[in-house]
Amino acid sequence: MENTYPLPTTRYPLYFAIFGNPVSHSKSPLMHNLAFKGLGYSGCYGRYRLEDGKKLRETFFTLGLKGINITVPHKEHAYNACDVLDDFAQKVGAVNTIVEREGKLYGYNTDAPGFLKAISEFDDVKTVLFLGAGGTAQSTAVILKEAGYQVTILNRSAPRLEKFAKEGFTTATFDTFTPKTYDLVVNMTSAGLEDESLPAPREILETLIPHAKACVDVIYGKETPFLRLAKALGKPTKDGSDMLLYQGIIAFEHFTAYQYDFEQIKHHMKKAFIL
Ligand code: NDP
Repeated sequence: MENTYPLPTTRYPLYFAIFGNPVSHSKSPLMHNLAFKGLGYSGCYGRYRLEDGKKLRETFFTLGLKGINITVPHKEHAYNACDVLDDFAQKVGAVNTIVEREGKLYGYNTDAPGFLKAISEFDDVKTVLFLGAGGTAQSTAVILKEAGYQVTILNRSAPRLEKFAKEGFTTATFDTFTPKTYDLVVNMTSAGLEDESLPAPREILETLIPHAKACVDVIYGKETPFLRLAKALGKPTKDGSDMLLYQGIIAFEHFTAYQYDFEQIKHHMKKAFIL
């Protein structure tokens, strides 16, 4: 993307943070600080546990921040806190990156392009099955559809599927699902994050996975039961680390007004995954 904004001054440190609740587990401070240091940019990135999402805007200005990332459960509050939204964030109703420019808050969604980049590393993928219909599934389904993928959404319950159906996605619950062949099967739920549950009944997964080219989980930092099952069935897998890294790189591009290119940032930021 072209830089159409004035470059931020870097004569004094600019302060950034991740807002969420909980936020203690987040890798974002390490990722961004490694990139600031490696690229010689005068920035510093911390973490802030925000309890009341309605106070996001006020907290941002009180802390004197230049930019933030936003994680669970505040991405909709972040959307509402912005003065200016980019087209994609506007469309999906979720913001995970905010940058302050001349007193205004600009909002972006970098989760979805991060996920798109992560899965574009698989060859010959056209059909994708999402297990889960939460906020992350929403933004990523839209970007995948725009990029030409055919996305089907399978969820344990019906209510969240309504929005997807209205947007033209094929949807099903476990009860109404008729398995087909999908190139990629993706766990878009939090099943397996803090428990040992699978995102869908084992029988459904054991029918689907053998026909898939690969399986992806958006959870990172642990091997989920879903990825364990996919490996046991002999499939290539990818966890959520690349998505996390790529959404961070794209956020960093916004924070630093495109002074650095993707690969330059990646070179430094990826070290967060071996530390
Ligand atoms: P949630 O974690 O709130 O999950 C919502 C969806 O998951 C709903 O469709 C829900 O079904 C389904 N679900 C939750 N638990 C289960 C379960 N045990 N079995 C079956 N279905 C379940 O949604 P988010 O979109 O906020 O986050 C999804 C995941 O994405 C999280 O694990 C999060 O950590 C990860 N993530 C990773 C990122 C990365 O950079 N790698 C970035 C952002 C998110 P129902 O509608 O029936 O309740």
